[in-house]
Amino acid sequence: MNIDKKSQNILKHLDELKNKDFSFQSGHILGSMCTQPHFIAKKAYINFLETNIGDPDLFPGTKLIEEKFIKFISNLFHAPKTFSGQIMSGGTEGNITAMWIAKLLSQKKEIIVSEGAHFSFRKIASLMDMKLKTVPLTKDFIVDIKKLKKKINKDTAAVLAIAGSTELGTIDPIPEINELCCNEHIFLHVDAAFGGFVIPFLKKLDHNICDFDFKLKGVSTISVDAHKMGCAAIPLGTLVVKNKKWLDEISGQPNCTSSNRQVGILGTRSGGSVAAGYATVNYLGHNGYGRIVKNCMDNTEHTKKRIEEIGLNLVVKPTMNVIGVKLKKPEKIIKMLSNQGWRVNHIQRLSCIRIVLMPHVKKDTIDEFIPVLEKTCKKVGEL
Ligand SMILES: *Cc1c(COP(=O)(O)O)cnc(C)c1O
Repeated sequence: MNIDKKSQNILKHLDELKNKDFSFQSGHILGSMCTQPHFIAKKAYINFLETNIGDPDLFPGTKLIEEKFIKFISNLFHAPKTFSGQIMSGGTEGNITAMWIAKLLSQKKEIIVSEGAHFSFRKIASLMDMKLKTVPLTKDFIVDIKKLKKKINKDTAAVLAIAGSTELGTIDPIPEINELCCNEHIFLHVDAAFGGFVIPFLKKLDHNICDFDFKLKGVSTISVDAHKMGCAAIPLGTLVVKNKKWLDEISGQPNCTSSNRQVGILGTRSGGSVAAGYATVNYLGHNGYGRIVKNCMDNTEHTKKRIEEIGLNLVVKPTMNVIGVKLKKPEKIIKMLSNQGWRVNHIQRLSCIRIVLMPHVKKDTIDEFIPVLEKTCKKVGEL
């Protein structure tokens, strides 16, 4: 395609700025929970760039894609027939929306979360004038169920269970939380932003992992990100709700488009990311995701072994493809690694660095990284 000089200059300018970014392609991004979108996601995204799923009257075809995508996710999570779902911009919006529903259904204002909850819950408390009641973690970095039980009272609007924590990829004892919530008739939200595209496939690989989804009768909502382990393009998450009637609580009649009632927080929403997500799940299917998860877990095991070999310790044995490495001065190490072109994340609360073995991280790259980590740690007396 021929493009004019002005466009060329603008694109060149953008390229210059993009060159400052780290890239997934380099393999050197070791701390992010996002990854390079699948090639078919990129194609589909561009084809649907102008579509708006906030206006299904104009884009009925894209609306069908949205429904098919939600159906895939709901099947993955064994949703009951009464289910419904809503496309989200990500895990944050998924959590906000779930707590919005819980607040309206219960007319109560306390949410019980663990210390490992994603920081979006602090936004929720502030945005919706709700109170967080925080439960400590056990030595395995999952919620302490006995302490959780004690926090439940007449003001409890919802309980959070984490299916793959942001910090360490740990999974709460969800069947036990489920039982508590069933007995007390309390709304149970499962935050599977990261784990939703991992756990179903780990189970198929015979990892010994508890149930986390609608197989458990007390689970009310599940939030998942497709732009993390789903390998789709940002922004794409889904909130699956057990009972479609609940979405009425958060719907309203738009006064500017011709469509029927609109559900959720946002108005105009990208159909591009939805088409990209649907293309990706269709292309990969359960087998494709199974292979990806297996590969990520193999790389996790390899990384764990190599890290322990150089004399560093993990915070906890990895459940999924997330590793926390204990350090005395993580901040310093992270800065020095960054200067050498390697990016890992800082979990301040746990004095550790987080490495996430996403699909773009290859075994060879890990083997390149380990000596750099070792040398850096030796330089500052960590080793
Ligand atoms: C990433 C993550 C979120 C937030 O998702 P965004 O897509 O960044 O909004 C919420 N909860 C957990 C457990 C996460 O890992």
